[in-house]
Amino acid sequence: MSRFLNQKYESLEAYVPGEQPKDMQYIKLNTNESPFPPPQDVIDAVSVQELENLRLYCDPDCSVLKEALANAYGVQKNNVFVANGSDDILNFAFMAFGGNGAVFADITYGFYKVYCALHGIEYREIPLLEDFSIRPDDYFNAGCMIAIANPNAPTGIALSVEEIELILQSNHDHVVLVDEAYVDFGGESVINLIKQYKNLLVVRTYSKSRSMAGARLGFAFADEELIADLERIKFSTNPYSVNRMTLAAGAAALSEDSSRYFAEKCSEIIAVREYLSQQLKNLGFDVLPSKTNFLFAKHYAIEGEKIYTLLKEKGILVRHFTAERIKSYNRITIGTKEQTETLLLALKEIIKEQ
Ligand SMILES: *Cc1c(COP(=O)(O)O)cnc(C)c1O
Repeated sequence: MSRFLNQKYESLEAYVPGEQPKDMQYIKLNTNESPFPPPQDVIDAVSVQELENLRLYCDPDCSVLKEALANAYGVQKNNVFVANGSDDILNFAFMAFGGNGAVFADITYGFYKVYCALHGIEYREIPLLEDFSIRPDDYFNAGCMIAIANPNAPTGIALSVEEIELILQSNHDHVVLVDEAYVDFGGESVINLIKQYKNLLVVRTYSKSRSMAGARLGFAFADEELIADLERIKFSTNPYSVNRMTLAAGAAALSEDSSRYFAEKCSEIIAVREYLSQQLKNLGFDVLPSKTNFLFAKHYAIEGEKIYTLLKEKGILVRHFTAERIKSYNRITIGTKEQTETLLLALKEIIKEQ
């Protein structure tokens, strides 16, 4: 830390993204990326023409992409917000709506508390139940902004639309942010509730189900007034945060062909997830019921960190968290069937060697 750093950031603990080691080629099952490339329409959209246009600023209103998203999800254009990854949107949302503090689960996306620390927002963590599920009643009349990842990460467990609706109803005066990063893998979206609930903000991403983590594109749906608040913050930060290639790629990813492709790939991932879950259970793992593209699993006998380390030595990366409640678990991204077989072989070796 230099002596020039603003005092208010002295104790800020930055978010630690999943590791991206360069020492060898790993099977990367640690950051919930898709194992599949984007569809052809997306690749075609980032054309030479678009690259030549790089000398020009991109559209700060992101009009074409917003129109396409509004069409795809059956909302109006002024109900749509887009930014540089959903992390950007979460940051803006905490800035905009965290004035009275925030609540979220004790085990959830680790970035929520970093945004709170960054913006001086007081937050309260609500413990998940023993089985790692969320009890909706714990969020009734919260008295401040609520953030819920649904399905939750890193547990993979989802709430129903009805349960989210109960939370919305009891918090009319505060924003309920529902982070649906993983909803395409079997969860239920609450997008259809934005007309009814002016306090609902639904945040989505192209990073997981749409195979575009590197493009950095997030989008959100809400009542037009909430969207205008987010635009105000975006235009006070960096109006050009979504670049030309990403805008083009994002719209192309909504074409009919692309949508069919993504639906197929999501089904494939869900099938592999169910297969891996069963195989892990056969090997002595306790596996939480997942509606995402990852599994959260602990072995009855071998420590989580040990499994993480031994897998890494065998060229397979998974995500291990050190928080007390979950340190016996690893979060394993669903890869291809082939990667899954390699993972299972490695786990069998590790178990045999104990
Ligand atoms: C991956 C993830 C994000 C971040 O997505 P980006 O769009 O890549 O910034 C947000 N929320 C949750 C719960 C995630 O797992």
